[in-house]
Amino acid sequence: MDNLFFSLAEEIRKCTACPLWKSRTLAVPGEGIFNKQISDKQIKLFFIGEAPGEEENRQGLPFIGRSGKFLDEMLKIAGVERKDVFITGAVKCHPPKNRNPTAKELKICKELWLDNQINIIQPKLIVILGKVALKSLLDGEISNKEKINESHGTIITKNKQKYFITYHPAAGMRFPKIKKSMIEDFKKLKKFVN
Ligand code: SF4
Repeated sequence: MDNLFFSLAEEIRKCTACPLWKSRTLAVPGEGIFNKQISDKQIKLFFIGEAPGEEENRQGLPFIGRSGKFLDEMLKIAGVERKDVFITGAVKCHPPKNRNPTAKELKICKELWLDNQINIIQPKLIVILGKVALKSLLDGEISNKEKINESHGTIITKNKQKYFITYHPAAGMRFPKIKKSMIEDFKKLKKFVN
């Protein structure tokens, strides 16, 4: 599984399937437990955010800088460490001027890479961080009433895969009300993990 995962990451780094490759310095395939030795006993949590920001683009790593620190704080609340989970984005390349990825870019990157990563890792739970990841993975599954403000802190099952929904760390950093909600969400996540 390790080799399969590494070769997928190599392919992602060379990908030119959607226009976002033009604005990237380094693609960000993802990082975490599955870059190391895999133990079947470890809990398989798969976190998915939005798109690489400027610092992530420079270093080729997900969730570094301030939003990464914020995510680490949240992980602590859930009782898990970053080294024990896998973290990636809905798209792997930095969009120009930090704009949101388009629906088409999300679809291409998901079908080419994200679905494969999920298939290889077979996570027990996918944690959706924010609206973009929600759109990428659960668009059409959740009704109009279940936008992120209503659906955060809940688990949705689709094709036997469980998804836990919460906000994006960048939103939690900016808005105290969202941070409060995220803290509650990650406490719920801890119960699920245990
Ligand atoms: S965002 Fe995804 S699909 Fe688009 S170029 Fe990057 S890796 Fe390829």
